[in-house]
This record gives sequence, C-alpha cells and structure tokens, in this order.
Amino acid sequence: MTDVEDRGAPVVGLSDTDLALLETELAEIELLPRIDADAASERVVPVLRKARAAGLHVLEQRALLVQGEVAYYDGEQERAAQLAQSALKWATEHGSVFLLARAHYVLQKVFLDLGDLSLGLEHSVRAVELLGEDADPRMRLDHIARLADCLGYNRDLPGARARYRQALNMAVEIGDVDRELLVVNNWSYIEAQYGDAEAAIELSTRMQELSVTTGTELGIGRRDTIARALIRVDRLAEAEEVLEPVADPEFRLAGREGDGGAEGLLALVEVQRRRGKFAEAQRNLDVCLRLCEERNLGYVRVAVRQEQAELHAAAGDYKAAFEEHQLYARDALQLQSDERDARARTLQAMYETSEARRQSLQYRELSLRDPLTGLYNRRFVDEELPRLLAEGTTSGRPVTVALLDLDHFKRVNDTCSHEVGDHVLSALARMLEAAVDTAPDGSFAARMGGEEFLLVLSDGDQDATTQLLESLCATVRDHGWSDLTGTLPVTVSIGAAAGPSDPVPDPAQLLGRADACLYEAKRSGRDRVVCDLV
Ligand code: GH3
Ligand code: MG
Ligand code: MG
Repeated sequence: MTDVEDRGAPVVGLSDTDLALLETELAEIELLPRIDADAASERVVPVLRKARAAGLHVLEQRALLVQGEVAYYDGEQERAAQLAQSALKWATEHGSVFLLARAHYVLQKVFLDLGDLSLGLEHSVRAVELLGEDADPRMRLDHIARLADCLGYNRDLPGARARYRQALNMAVEIGDVDRELLVVNNWSYIEAQYGDAEAAIELSTRMQELSVTTGTELGIGRRDTIARALIRVDRLAEAEEVLEPVADPEFRLAGREGDGGAEGLLALVEVQRRRGKFAEAQRNLDVCLRLCEERNLGYVRVAVRQEQAELHAAAGDYKAAFEEHQLYARDALQLQSDERDARARTLQAMYETSEARRQSLQYRELSLRDPLTGLYNRRFVDEELPRLLAEGTTSGRPVTVALLDLDHFKRVNDTCSHEVGDHVLSALARMLEAAVDTAPDGSFAARMGGEEFLLVLSDGDQDATTQLLESLCATVRDHGWSDLTGTLPVTVSIGAAAGPSDPVPDPAQLLGRADACLYEAKRSGRDRVVCDLV
C-alpha cells in the first residue's frame, strides 16, 4: 500500500486542489523543525485539524509526528516519545513506509537524548533505510546527518565522517545554507569531542566563513562548537573572542536557546579561568548560576558547581574549592538519579502507548468473536464479506458463501441437555476451522447465531468448493458423537452460493441465494449439500 493510496476514503468537502495544497503545506512543515521549530509548531495546527476533519489518516499521523519532533526541541521528551511511538505503531499496522521512516527519525533523537546511544543508532539506521530515494533531498539530508551524529556519539568516527561528507555534499548541491551550517556544526562538535582536533578546527573555520559570506549571525550553540575546537588546541584567546558576545544578556536573549545560553556562558567561564581572568570568570559564572535557577537546568547547575570549585582552586581558595567540590559530588549523584527517573518515565510512556494500542486491538478482536465457539460473529461477517467480495471481483475469482444449519438440533437440546447442545456447537466449530485450514487464504468461518454457521471460501473454484463442502458434511455425519448425544445422530445441511464475480455481488443477495439452497437441502431430506454456483 502506498501512502498516496492510503490517504483515506474520497473526502467530502475537500477538492483535489485543496488536498494537494494540504499535502504540499505538510511536506514543507516536515522540513522545518530542525530549522525553525516555532514555525513548524504553529503551521502544523491547521493542517492537523483539516486532515482530521477530512479523515486523511496518513496526513494526520504525519502532522502528529511533526508535533512530536517539535516537542523534542521544546525539551518535552516524554511527549515526543509518545507521539513517535504511536506513529510507529500506526505506520506498522497500515504499511506506511514513509511514516515509519519519519517515526524512527524522531525516536532516534529521543533515545540519543536519553543517552541510549545504541538504540538511538538503531532507529537512525532504520530512518535512513526506510526513507525512499525519491524523498525530498532536504529530508534525506536530515536523516543522513542524524545518522552521522549517532555514529559519532557511538565513537564510530570513520562511519560518522562518511555520512557527514555525504550530507554536506547534498547541502552544497541543493544550495541549502541552513543545513550546510547544521552539518558543519555537528561534525565539528563530534570531532572536537571524540575525534581529530585539527579537523574540528577546519570545520569550525568553515562554519565561521559561511556565516560571514551568507550574513548569518552565529548563534550561541555554534559559537560554543567553535570555542570547543579552539580549546582543544589551546587557542584560548580566540576561543574567548568567539564566546565574548555570550556575556551580553541581549545577545543571549536573541539566541532563544532552550538553556538561555547557560552552556555557552559556562564555556566562556572556563576559557577566562584558564586565561587567569578570575574576576570576569566569577561574574559570568554568577550569571550562569542565576540562569540555571530561573530555568531549572539540572545538569548545567552541576557543571556550574564543578566550574566553581575549579575557579576557587585556581584563585587559591582551597577551602572554598573543597566545599564546592563536595556539593558538586552530591548534586552530580542526584542528577544521575534524576536522569534515570526521567529516562524511566519516558520509557514507561512509550510502553503505555503501545500497551494501550495492543489492548484496544485485543478488545476489537474480542468484539468480533462469538464467545461460545470462538468463531467470528455476524459483526465480523458484515465488515469482512463486502471487502472479500470486492477482492474477488478484482482477482476474477468468485467468493462462495455456504450456510450450515444443524439438523433437528432442537432434539439434541431436548433429549440430552442444553449443555450437550453447546458442546455439539463447539465441536462443529472446530470442524469448520479445520475446513478453513484447507481452504484458500482469506476464507473464514463464522457463527451467524443459534445453530447456524457461515463458511466463506475466498476462491470459488466449483469442483474444489463442492468437494470441500461434501467432505465437511460427511465429517460431521461420521464424527463419533455418541459420547455426547448417545444414539442421536448429528448432521448438518449446507446451502452454498457463488458468483458471478463481476459486478461485485451484493452480500445480502448472495446470502439469500445460499439460504434458498439451505432450505432446499432441508426440504429434500437434510444431511446434504445444495449448491448454486454460477
Ligand atoms: P432443522 O433441522 O429444521 O434446522 O431443525 P432444528 O431443530 O435444528 O431447528 P429449530 O430452528 O427448530 O431449532 C433450533 C434450536 O437450536 C432451538 C434452540 O434451542 C437451539 N439453539 C439455538 N442456539 C443455541 C445455543 O447457543 N446453545 C444450544 N444448546 N442450543 C441452541
Ligand atoms: Mg436454524
Ligand atoms: Mg437447525
């Protein structure tokens, strides 16, 4: 099933043009979160509403997934995980490969953030594999670049470099400067943290040049990346210069970073301390501390304590350094356990989502079953038969419906007991299931009510059908019933009807013809099969 076919039923009130517009808008929004999460968040709302109203399920799921990705950028990992997980389920159940690729893409981010590097990598690989070659090149680029990040965090530097190079070439080819900057930034960061310091410098230089030639102001995160590369090779004065603007509250505010620029500020403090500028370092560290408290930044707060201890020590106040270090050790432990809790909560949320879906499927399945025999019930027949008949028309193989009714069943109930009657019904159900097992795929058996059953055979080959029904009739007759019913025989009468397959037969009409045959079987002596197979 392709995504296009699965947009849902023809929609009332949405013209082809409107539909195409909606799809184009959504496709654009899907490319936004990495670049401008606020815009994505705003623009996706009306799309989601329209998709829902029009019953366009794939579009609805895609829109929900955009909300999941935005939630990720807003730091709401639980919500991101839940939305991605439920999109993943939906995509799996409905065979939507594109949605599957996108769900893996968002899950990869969540897991990487949770610190589960190998699961992050697994999702990332799937996200790349499943996204078709024909997807928008910007989207392919995003998926490949994130795979590079995952490989980098997993310390597979050669693997990461190959993907970064590929993503970078793509960005240059399509002239997407935003994405070129993104890739260069992340690549440089990975090299500075785990790889080659010179390569990190080269990349961060490229990032600086790009920002100059394109007139794009470097944000706090990117300055932080450049500074880290410079710190790695002890070019501290330059690192300080790059980070200098971060000390300005207005610059921090304009950056709209989730942490308010706290991490960038901390990097500046480190550089200033190492350059012996203790007073300036302390001033900036105090600001950073306030940011942490205002914004509840647990992990930066811990890093601030560590930096404070270093700063006291550097300034020669060893007593204060020691005290601060103890506080740092205490907070670091607490943070670890907070992080574990957060991780457990997110995993729990993901589990609950899939559990809820599993349960609802289970309930649905139950509601389509007859409790006594376990066979499908009439509701299932009402849903499934029209579908099967339409399929029969497509394939040119007519569908056979056979009604079965136990003969003189009232006698079993009256002579033996209602309970014995129930056992007979269940035993017959098992025989019907065995018959279905020998029938073509798609065939099924159902209990229509009382002692009346239905067998639907998906391929109405006349000879095979007649043979199967005759053999079923004989199996019932020859079964060893005496343990249950004593001397009372148990037999069935069967009436069957099929075809022609074109046009699609009306289910009620077809069942009516089978019922007429059943009546004929009863009238002419019971324990027999009467067929009307055109
Ligand atoms: P015929 O050969 O003409 O079909 O005769 P019959 O006795 O089978 O048909 P009739 O319609 O007169 O009776 C059907 C009986 O099936 C009546 C009812 O008590 C019994 N029956 C219907 N549902 C159940 C059930 O769930 N359990 C049991 N034990 N009996 C049932
Ligand atoms: Mg009956
Ligand atoms: Mg009967």
